Amino acid sequence: MRYLVLTDIHANLEALDACLAHAASRGCEATLVLGDLVGYGADPNAVVERVQALKPVAIVRGNHDKVACGIDQAEGFNAVARHAARWTLEQLTPDYREWLAALPAGPTEVDDLLEICHGSPFDEDAYIFDELDAVRALKVSTRPLCLFGHTHYPVTFELSDETIESIGSTPASEMRVQIRDGCRYLINPGSVGQPRDGDPRAAYAIVDTSERRVELFRATYPVEAAQAKIIEAGLPEVLAQRLAVGR
Ligand code: ZN
Repeated sequence: MRYLVLTDIHANLEALDACLAHAASRGCEATLVLGDLVGYGADPNAVVERVQALKPVAIVRGNHDKVACGIDQAEGFNAVARHAARWTLEQLTPDYREWLAALPAGPTEVDDLLEICHGSPFDEDAYIFDELDAVRALKVSTRPLCLFGHTHYPVTFELSDETIESIGSTPASEMRVQIRDGCRYLINPGSVGQPRDGDPRAAYAIVDTSERRVELFRATYPVEAAQAKIIEAGLPEVLAQRLAVGR
């Protein structure tokens, strides 16, 4: 099976469409979505519509989805995120709000090889930044490969015997990770709609379970178009500015 993996789309339709176009010729058979479909960007309804059309075989909610559909409070959010969440809540159609509210919390086991979560397998809202976080998460994960999002930072952690290694963001537009027997992996493909690793290109992944391989991609998209919509919507300008620098 070849899975298309999307996370942290954040209502950025231009970035999502660029990833779908980029992936179109790469033979994906099913889609996995790791949460934060909305929040920050100007196209929450269109992004939910696109994701529904992809008919994900597994999808989990993110912290922004919970606040934007009204089932959680914006307590942990800064002023900008809170503003965007309130705006998103007003924009979402009642149907899409309900659909987002019904999304399951992770982790979700997809098959024998992989499971997905938003933040980490022990807490959907926890962040995995460093190797210590990764070791803790790998203790809880039930599959050789656990895919996560939430930090908007592409990273691969590989645990073999007692050593853990990490590979962070690279300037390459394509990277492959081979899943080795006896090792366990925690991989964040990076964010589709609001990358924060200094690379403004949209990030996504394809997992090939028969080849036991994860392919990590970066796709350019019309950043200016997404920025113009954010300004037009009256969302905080910083949300437009950060897209250009990928921070
Ligand atoms: Zn996010």
